Amino acid sequence: MSNLMPPAHPFDDDKLKEECGIFGVLGTKEAANFVALGLHALQHRGQEAGGIVSHDPEMGFNSARRFGYVRDNFTSQKVMETLPGPLAIGHVRYSTAGSKGQTAIRDVQPFFGEFAMGGAAIAHNGNITNANALRRELIERGSIFQSSSDSECIIHLMARSLQRNIPERMEDALRRVEGAFSVVAMTRTKLIGVRDPLGVRPLVLGKVGDGWALSSETCALDIIGAEFVREIEPGEMVVISEKYGVQSHFPFRRQPSKFCIFEHVYFSRPDSILGGRSVYETRENIGRELAKESPVEADLVCPVPDSGTPAAIGFSLESGIPYAMGIIRNQYMGRTFIEPTESIRNMGVRLKLNVNRALIKGKRVILVDDSVVRGTTSRKIKEMILDAGAAEVHFRIASPPTAWPCFYGVDTPDRDKLLAATMSEEEMRDHLGVDSLKFISLDGLYRAVGEAKGRDKACPQYCDACFSGEYPVIPADKIDDGFVMKAAE
Ligand code: SF4
Repeated sequence: MSNLMPPAHPFDDDKLKEECGIFGVLGTKEAANFVALGLHALQHRGQEAGGIVSHDPEMGFNSARRFGYVRDNFTSQKVMETLPGPLAIGHVRYSTAGSKGQTAIRDVQPFFGEFAMGGAAIAHNGNITNANALRRELIERGSIFQSSSDSECIIHLMARSLQRNIPERMEDALRRVEGAFSVVAMTRTKLIGVRDPLGVRPLVLGKVGDGWALSSETCALDIIGAEFVREIEPGEMVVISEKYGVQSHFPFRRQPSKFCIFEHVYFSRPDSILGGRSVYETRENIGRELAKESPVEADLVCPVPDSGTPAAIGFSLESGIPYAMGIIRNQYMGRTFIEPTESIRNMGVRLKLNVNRALIKGKRVILVDDSVVRGTTSRKIKEMILDAGAAEVHFRIASPPTAWPCFYGVDTPDRDKLLAATMSEEEMRDHLGVDSLKFISLDGLYRAVGEAKGRDKACPQYCDACFSGEYPVIPADKIDDGFVMKAAE
């Protein structure tokens, strides 16, 4: 692994982590600069590495792929001058399936393929759940893989397609692929965006001047001054060119949408728009629902910063219990300890968060967090709050218990490492040592994201597999590796 990679956060292993963000621009001068800005706004979706491919009518395709943050790699004039042209796509990644812990630069997207009718570059967010089987089949038929990334399967499937143009070859390839994926791709003249048939991962369309942009989230459109046009629909492919504008196709069988409900809870930035509503507003609603479902007498509602903040505000507004910043986040921690030593690592949460003692002493405190994964951070935060003299500590969690791994492009611990997979709510309360612990119910979460009647058990409106164990796409490769699905009820 390159030593240029940013450090793993000392306690990041207690959160689910989104693995990728994608961005593309067509029809602006120096499109790669816009892509770099877009990727910077999507950095929360992946910090390990990033890449940009551009095309210029005279200079052809060019690419730059680097480990580390966008701001450290794609801000220098020297690098950006190598990426000329009016068309570019880019990708930020955490790490993709199959390469965890041993990432090579060849695994960093976008990937490029040269076909008889010209070149194409492709980047995706998500996970192909039959990638191992496809890879085996392609290798048996003579394909030579250069990376361990799922995206390369798409390039090889495109190479084998008999269709005449690249968008049609991509359609052919994606019909063979199972899983949850959003794709941005480019040819010499076209920008292409695709969402999987269930629309598990996000992708939005924006207008920037006379040109167009595709992005994982709307917050990245804002940074380049693009206007949000609409979400790409589940199963939709848009082929965008300067000549014909946006052409929409639906190459897959239409199916009910299964957007990732965790995007609302945690992954997306609070200033993004999802389903016509700001993520911030949805998180505030989650807090309100939580307060209705699980009230408790207390003196203060405090967020676990930063992701618990909107839900804590909602909880406070609904309950009438004052909101307070009982825990202060050290904004500069990540920059200060670039390579933490073991002794610093052991200081754990205290490096990042500090308790506002004067506020907490003698108070009954409700702590609102977005999720409990392993529970290690929650335990340490509880200790800090008690050390500061709190009279009682009550945890309220803005998602249901995370009891199942995600196989759709999110980094999750194995099932036996998930606290909720091995303990009941009461056992978790004992384990964390708090006065009370309550999670929002699945129905409450659905109400908060705008489904007034809650979750439709017969056909859930979202993917919620990490809570329910009901996987909308069978994780075929994982089952081959021994994963046991939940028994039908
Ligand atoms: S399993 Fe959870 S994190 Fe993964 S896509 Fe579904 S809702 Fe999102």
